[in-house]
Amino acid sequence: MPQEIRVRARIVEEMLRHARSESRMECCGLLAGVDGVITKSFPAKNVLASPTAYEVAPQELFPLFRQMREKGLDHLGIYHSHPATENFPSPSDVELAAYPYQAYFIISPLAAAPNPVRAFSIRDGHVEELEIVIVNV
Ligand SMILES: [Zn+2]
Repeated sequence: MPQEIRVRARIVEEMLRHARSESRMECCGLLAGVDGVITKSFPAKNVLASPTAYEVAPQELFPLFRQMREKGLDHLGIYHSHPATENFPSPSDVELAAYPYQAYFIISPLAAAPNPVRAFSIRDGHVEELEIVIVNV
C-alpha cells in the first residue's frame, strides 16, 4: 500500500494553473490544511527565477508559516513545477529536501505530461511516490 496524501480538487487546479502561468520557470508554493487534508495553497515567488531550481525567500516563507498558524492550518506540503523535465524529484530536490513529513507535489505544465500532478515523500535521501486522493470537503 503506497502512502497517500489527501487534497481538495480545487488545490490541484490551482497548482496546475500556477505552473502553466509560469511555463518557462519553476513555480512554487506551500500547502496547508487540517486533519491531513490539503485545503489551501500559498503560491510563493521563486527567487531563483530558474527553469531548473526553486527557492522561496526566507522573508516570504516565514510570513506564510505565520499565516498558516493564524488560520489554524498545518503545513502539509510544498509544490513546485518542472517546466521542461519529468515531474519526478531531481537530484537537487532530494538533496535539498527540508520537510521529511510533508508531501512534495511536482507539477508539469506540459500538455503532453502523462501525469501532470504527482506527489512524493522525500526523507533521508529516499523518494517514495504518494497516492493523491482527491477529496471534496
Ligand atoms: Zn524539482
